[in-house]
Amino acid sequence: MTDRPTLPGAMPNAYQPGKGNLPPGDQALVARRQRLLGPAYRLFYETPVHLVRGEGVWLYDKDGKAYLDTYNNVASVGHCHPRVVEATARQSAIFASHTRYLHDGILEYAERLLAHFPPALSHVMFTCTGSEANDLAFRIARAQTGGTGFIVTENAYHGVTHAIAGMSPSLGAGVPLGEHVRTVPAPDPLRLAGDVGAAFAAGVQAAVDDLLRHGIRPAALIVDTVFSSDGVFADPPGFLAPAVGVIRRAGGLFIADEVQPGFGRTGQAMWGFQRHGLTPDMVSLGKPMGNGYPVAGLVMRPEVIESFGSKARYFNTFGGNAVAAATAMAVLQVVEDEGLMQNAATVGALFRAGLEDLATRHDALGPIRSAGLFLGAEIVAGGDPLAADAAACGRIVNHLRDNGVLISATGPRANVLKIRPPLVFSAENVAFFLDRLEAALKA
Ligand code: PMP
Repeated sequence: MTDRPTLPGAMPNAYQPGKGNLPPGDQALVARRQRLLGPAYRLFYETPVHLVRGEGVWLYDKDGKAYLDTYNNVASVGHCHPRVVEATARQSAIFASHTRYLHDGILEYAERLLAHFPPALSHVMFTCTGSEANDLAFRIARAQTGGTGFIVTENAYHGVTHAIAGMSPSLGAGVPLGEHVRTVPAPDPLRLAGDVGAAFAAGVQAAVDDLLRHGIRPAALIVDTVFSSDGVFADPPGFLAPAVGVIRRAGGLFIADEVQPGFGRTGQAMWGFQRHGLTPDMVSLGKPMGNGYPVAGLVMRPEVIESFGSKARYFNTFGGNAVAAATAMAVLQVVEDEGLMQNAATVGALFRAGLEDLATRHDALGPIRSAGLFLGAEIVAGGDPLAADAAACGRIVNHLRDNGVLISATGPRANVLKIRPPLVFSAENVAFFLDRLEAALKA
C-alpha cells in the first residue's frame, strides 16, 4: 500500500521533470512552455502527449499516433463534431457580440436548455467558464441568504477564482480554504459508517453546526453531483436528498455543480442531481456545454436571484455571446438528435460490466463505481478494497498512455482511475479500452 505521492500542486498524474521518455523536440517544447508560461501550469503523464488533431473519440499526436480518448468530457459529442464546428464558423462569420444587444440566438438556446430542467429552474445566466458560473452562484447565495458560510466535500474542485479556489480543497495545502468554508467527508460507502445518505447528511449537519458555532450563517452547500474529484460517487440514487434537507433547514441553498456530470453523461438523466430526485436552487454548467468552445452558465430558481438582481447588474463580455449561443445550441441538438444520453446509459453499463469482469481476474482492480459514461475504478493493493495504491494507479495510467489510451487518476488517495470518454463512445471502443487495461494490469 502506498500513500498519495507528493505531487506538484497536488495533481495526480502530473508530469514530473526528469521522468519519462520525452523525445528531444518535446523536451525543447517543455522548456519553452516553462519559459513562456511560467511555473503554475501542469502537464499530464510521465511522458507528456503532444496532440495536434482530434476526431470523434480519437486524438492524434504530432507523429500521427492515435490515442483513444477515454478522458475528455469537454469534447462530449466527439472531437471536432462537424455540426458544432459548422455552427461556430457560421455564426462567427455573421456577428459576434455580447448580451447588451437584442439577439434571438441566446433566447432560443435558453429556451431549449431550460426545457431540460424542472420547471422551477427557469432562469439561466451565461458565463465563459465553470469557475465563473460557480463564482456567480457564490455571490447570489450570499445576497439571497445573508449568510457567508459554504460547505463542500473534502476533495472537491469547483474552480479558479479567489472565492472558488478557496472552496476547492483538491487544489492541495498550498491553496488555503476560505475562513467561511467547511468540508465534509465524501459519500464513500466504504469509509462512511452505515447508510450513505444519513452519514453524508450528518457530515453536513456537523459543518452547519460548526459554522454557527463560529457566528457564520450558512449560505450554501455546493457539490459536484457525481463527486468526481472525491473519487466518483453516484450510488445509491437519492443519497444526496437528506443533506440538501439539512442545508435548507439551516437557511442555506443547494448548488448542484453539473460542470462534470451534466449534459447526459450519467446516462439516465441530463443532470446528475436528477439521480437524487431533488431540485437544486442553482445549477452550474460548463465543460461539455460548448464541446470545446468556452461557454458555461448558471441555471436557477427565479426567487434566489431577486435580492442580487435588485442591487447588482451582471455583464460578462464574452459569456452568452452570439457565437457561444450558436455553438451551445448545436451541441445540445447533437446530444438530443444522436441519442447520446441513451448511449451513455447503454455503453456505460457495458463498460462497467467489462470492468467488473476484469476485476474478477485482477486483484489490483478494486471497487468500481459509475453512472453512465462516468466511471471510477479503484486501484488497490492485495485485493483489499481499503488499501489504495496510488503508485500502481499511476503506472497503469502511464502504461495506457504509452499504448494509445488516455485516462487519468483522481480521488483523495490518487488511486481512482477516472474514465470519462466522449458520449459517442461505442461498444467497440469499450472492448479496445478493456483490452489495453488488461495489458496494463498484467504489466
Ligand atoms: N466544477 C467542476 C466540478 C469542475 O470539474 C471544474 C473544472 N475542472 C470546474 C467547476 C471549473 O470549470 P472551469 O475550468 O471551466 O472554470
